[in-house]
Amino acid sequence: MSIRLLPPEVINRIAAGEVVERPASALKELVENSLDAGAGQVSIRLLAGGLELIEVADDGGGMLPDAMRLAMERHATSKLPEDAIDRVTSFGFRGEALPSIASVSHFVLRTRARGSASGTEIRVNGGTVASEREVGSPEGTAIEVADLFYNLPARQKFLKSDSAEATQISRIVTQMALGYPEVGFTLTSGGGSPGSGQGRKLLECPPANGLGERFFQLFGERLDLLEVRKEAGGIQIHGYIAALGEQGPVRGAQHVFVNRRIVRDRTIAHAISDAYSVATIKERSPEVHLFIRIPPDRVDVNVHPTKAEVRFLEQSLVHEVLRRALGEALGQGRAPELQFTPFAPRPSEPRPMSIPGVLAGATVGNRWTPEPLSPWRNLMEPLAPNPAEPGSTPENPVEPDGIQPGPVPEIRPMIPLGQFRDTFIIAIDDEGIAIIDQHVAHERVLFEQVMEKLTAGRLESQRLLAPILLEMSPAQRHALVPHIATLDKFGLEVEEFGGDSVRLSALPAVLDPSECEATVRALAEDLEGLDRGSRAEDALRKIAATMACHAAVKANYPLTLEKMRYILEELRRTAYSSVCPHGRPVVLRITRREIEKNFQRI
Ligand code: ADP
Ligand code: MG
Repeated sequence: MSIRLLPPEVINRIAAGEVVERPASALKELVENSLDAGAGQVSIRLLAGGLELIEVADDGGGMLPDAMRLAMERHATSKLPEDAIDRVTSFGFRGEALPSIASVSHFVLRTRARGSASGTEIRVNGGTVASEREVGSPEGTAIEVADLFYNLPARQKFLKSDSAEATQISRIVTQMALGYPEVGFTLTSGGGSPGSGQGRKLLECPPANGLGERFFQLFGERLDLLEVRKEAGGIQIHGYIAALGEQGPVRGAQHVFVNRRIVRDRTIAHAISDAYSVATIKERSPEVHLFIRIPPDRVDVNVHPTKAEVRFLEQSLVHEVLRRALGEALGQGRAPELQFTPFAPRPSEPRPMSIPGVLAGATVGNRWTPEPLSPWRNLMEPLAPNPAEPGSTPENPVEPDGIQPGPVPEIRPMIPLGQFRDTFIIAIDDEGIAIIDQHVAHERVLFEQVMEKLTAGRLESQRLLAPILLEMSPAQRHALVPHIATLDKFGLEVEEFGGDSVRLSALPAVLDPSECEATVRALAEDLEGLDRGSRAEDALRKIAATMACHAAVKANYPLTLEKMRYILEELRRTAYSSVCPHGRPVVLRITRREIEKNFQRI
């Protein structure tokens, strides 16, 4: 077999396989070109979800005829200053998209350079130039891509339905619109020429004044999201992320932009999941829209054919700044506030004139005022940094003025007054009245304590006088046995004991022996749900959460004031204490404002 160079049409079709997989990817390349050309408005029209036609018109810089001809050649780009592959700020730089797309479609490009008297039009069919002529056209560039993949029947077979393609295109235009708030975008389906106002509008965003406004145009008012804003170590982060609602964070899309380019990146994904896992063990994909800016020489964008991945030169710094940014935003999530409904006694009932012990307020204050100093001591100290944290390792020194430890979420000392139905602690501070679910609060506290002890070593255990034999189901035993070594770290000694039985000889000291059987069965069930491939840390967190749940005080359980005070005090030291490890709320508050408003004092 003789060796030969491939003809350019074939090279372009091969490249098309990489760069344009489906209509949405062709569209993405075209819109990126418009943005690179400095467009202020990008109008897109689709026929049949882009399978019949994709049209992109912009008011950017346009091209002179020579530049246009060159643009249709492979590896022709105007965007890469010589030797500057390490400082790319544009989307394009490979010079592949136009020739690739034109090699697999009926392609028309009309362009007029800014300040030129007339425009040029070039028509290319399946990679072969069919015509070129002078035309009258507005400044900017308009490209029509018809019958994508008409000459690649194999590829055509893999295309999804019109509506699936249109959905994917909407998603991409949404992402572009988020990355470029100052640019106007319209996306229509069917109808006449783009911007003509005909056809069905799928998306319309006039130029916006910043991310906040663009976000509102696209998603409306989202009170369930928290704003993130942080600048440290030369990295700027801005965005909106799911708050820790009652059911844990809202699931949703994860949009991550680095220097306005949407990316997928493991470091970033890991930092997000880390930030949320500190606050909740619920495994979800929380909705996040994050915009990261980093100097272009500290990030490599040339690692992926469609530029969907990047490589950070300082991965651990990016991880750390992002994790802290999210952690701080999540920590600020306030305890849910109760709507206060005024109490309207029925007329027949005598109005209580005084409530013993409350109107005699002084004694209440004296009795429950906590010992001087103690409530303040730990509040002022930042949380101990986790030694395993990236960024704190010696080879990754963080600029001293770059990152400060995140602020300790502000939780004021509360004074317990008593219990409601032996289940809820009623407490007060200067800013309101709080109702605390004693079980979830204690669970949260124990969870933190267990996790903290694990980083230091092993949990204390209590040896059982007589080992306990437990008959498990085969599934339970299979789930439990691979984790025997891990359970040992928790002070739980389990061994196989023939058949599906296991023998327990020691328990964690925090656990009441009467709870041990239920705990071990619950552990087996929780661990069963864990994938084989999941991280060891996920198993640890699951085990810690289950232990905490079983060791915590139950509902309908009377507590002494001493114990209530202990729970409140420990809770205050726990970051993220407004939700339990399973994502349930811990504290409800009636604010002082709410109370004063309802008594018409303000
Ligand atoms: P790249 O974007 O990697 O440079 P493309 O094949 O996408 O490669 O585009 C080739 C060149 O064509 C670009 O470098 C640019 O000079 C020009 N070009 C493409 N689209 C536009 C547009 N909408 N407006 C102005 N110039 C464009
Ligand atoms: Mg390009």
